[in-house]
Amino acid sequence: MATLFTKIINREIPAKIIYENPKVLAFEDIHPQAPHHYLIVPKIEIATINDLTPENAGYVAEMYLAAKEIAKMKGVDERGYRVVMNCNAEAGQTVFHIHLHFLAGRELHWPPG
Ligand code: 5GP
Repeated sequence: MATLFTKIINREIPAKIIYENPKVLAFEDIHPQAPHHYLIVPKIEIATINDLTPENAGYVAEMYLAAKEIAKMKGVDERGYRVVMNCNAEAGQTVFHIHLHFLAGRELHWPPG
């Protein structure tokens, strides 16, 4: 059964796509927590960080490279931005297809809640 994000990758579910390359897709989060809130997802299904292996970990580098490009594209690279990946229940993961949250456009507090 395809994940929600695979369905977005395959255009079976609509999303506001902002960036794409052969390895990753990025789109607006449906419940934005900042003026810029995008989800950067790999074009393969990896459920959680716990499922990373030496064979698939290259996708994580691709996700960060995409974050860097998106930051430049959106003009927040110098101002600042945050990328974060939740893993499993206590961290608040709800979609089991790894994704980087890209957040920018407001003061981001630390530690996060
Ligand atoms: P998680 O809680 O797993 O770290 O993040 C999942 C994110 O996916 C949430 O921020 C949530 O708002 C977002 N999300 C859930 N369903 C959809 C959807 O159908 N479309 C989009 N664009 N984002 C979604």
